[in-house]
Amino acid sequence: MSNSVAGLAGRLELVSGDITRLQIDAIVNAANAQLAGGGGVDGAIHAAAGPAVLEECRRIVAAQGICPAGNAVITGAGRLPARHIIHAVGPIWHGGGVHEAEQLAGAYRSSLQLATEHGVKSIAFPNISTGVYHYPKQAAANIAIATVCDYLLTHAVPGHVVFCCHDAENIALYRERLAALGT
Ligand code: ADP
Repeated sequence: MSNSVAGLAGRLELVSGDITRLQIDAIVNAANAQLAGGGGVDGAIHAAAGPAVLEECRRIVAAQGICPAGNAVITGAGRLPARHIIHAVGPIWHGGGVHEAEQLAGAYRSSLQLATEHGVKSIAFPNISTGVYHYPKQAAANIAIATVCDYLLTHAVPGHVVFCCHDAENIALYRERLAALGT
């Protein structure tokens, strides 16, 4: 095993199912730039967390404006078992020519930076942008895994990262890629 892969040993996990059910320090939401709630995983997270989280999002947007693609903000987690929700804004897929890859990597990296700043030991990501934002799933999985691995190799916190996949295509993609990494 190379040194770089050894630095990841035991730190990555694939879970299939509903991210709102995870007993973990922080879950990441695939939010929109207005942090206004929506469908998909965003809707599921706000429905489970309750209105206090949406109100916290409203206050953040009132104070600092919208959250552009590639960025993230952190709130409490309301009624969820997690302690924090990190609202990450991924890009809408427009064909790949308008910096979607950089923005998707940025959404993962910004989330991890917030996790480090807040002492988050364990964090779960959904497959950001691969639902109604239509980012191609294979390319998105490659970016998600590469960005998380790069970050973990230079940061001890968060110690543990979960990729929470909800649809069969993403589960298969992540299973294959994480197995190939040998982590
Ligand atoms: P985006 O707007 O970023 O594309 P979506 O919520 O539409 O966000 O989809 C992102 C991913 O979240 C999709 O791969 C979808 O399968 C997944 N997803 C939907 N509901 C849940 C859930 N409850 N837990 C985890 N992942 C979910």
